[in-house]
Amino acid sequence: MKALVYRGVGDIALEDRPDPQLQQPGDAVVRLVKTTLCGTDLHIIKGDVPTCQPGRILGHEGIGVVEQAGAAVSQFKPGDRVLISCISSCGKCDFCRKGMTSHCRTGGWILGHLIDGTQAEKVRIPHADTSLYHIPDGVDEEAMVMLSDILPTGFECGVLNGRVQPGGSVAIVGAGPVGLAALLTAQFYSPARIIMIDLDDNRLEVARRFGASDCLNAGDGQLVEKVMALTGGLGVDSAIEAVGVPATFTLCESIIAPGGDIAVLGVHGKPVELHLERLWSHNITLRTRLVDAVTTPMLLKSVEAGKLQPEQLITHHFALADILEAYDTFGKAAENKALKMIIEA
Ligand code: ZN
Ligand code: ZN
Repeated sequence: MKALVYRGVGDIALEDRPDPQLQQPGDAVVRLVKTTLCGTDLHIIKGDVPTCQPGRILGHEGIGVVEQAGAAVSQFKPGDRVLISCISSCGKCDFCRKGMTSHCRTGGWILGHLIDGTQAEKVRIPHADTSLYHIPDGVDEEAMVMLSDILPTGFECGVLNGRVQPGGSVAIVGAGPVGLAALLTAQFYSPARIIMIDLDDNRLEVARRFGASDCLNAGDGQLVEKVMALTGGLGVDSAIEAVGVPATFTLCESIIAPGGDIAVLGVHGKPVELHLERLWSHNITLRTRLVDAVTTPMLLKSVEAGKLQPEQLITHHFALADILEAYDTFGKAAENKALKMIIEA
């Protein structure tokens, strides 16, 4: 089969690989129909994720059709159309039993990281019963691809951790796909104001279309003053950091209102400054989380009911044969106005 392989820092290639086989009784082999690229894949290629070794097939998102199911798989059979979660979970270990599936003892984020992933014609999914979801009839398949990772990530790590409330004020720093996923799902709670901050006017325009009440270009300066002006001088109740660099974390610390919640959604590679000299008396809560994808069933129902349209995030389509071109386009996201790319297997 064809597969996109990480060969070392800055080096990926489309290779011929043997088809995956069942290894454990709980495994399934899924034939991919559609997959996508993630910012995390770019981090791997840059060398930011040393646990991902050269030779690994990348990708942790996608939908497909079950081709083989191991003897212990009871919920899925060959021919079933499935959504693949970016988090594999056994459902039985101590972390899974408390809903922290991202830290599953034999799972977590392993796809396209510690085991071969979904940017291929086929993929082996461990713990299939608790890591796959049936795709309901009549639901937009490309919308489903957005539920593998970015929607649950934006919602769990951003909206839930930021404790977005009805009537509250929210700032989302970073209008990339995950920041926009947080913007879409923050609206479940009807906050009074959602301020979107980015350097890219095109992404801010998308954010406005997706329901942001205010869009601020971070390059225009006086950002803190502008947020304060929009929030009666107090700052925001929820600050969602969706970039992953020290400057955006510092910005969240500067615009958080007393009693507010800072949620870290970005993948951070460097230490940040914690401004306790100002925040110690401000009753601030800071939360971090690796997505557990435990809200996927709820998000699936919301999409099915038409309450959530994550397919809006898709800007480009490529065939698997052209995945290197897709990476090129995604790597220069600003100039190509790229958000999520659908790769057809
Ligand atoms: Zn991802
Ligand atoms: Zn587990």
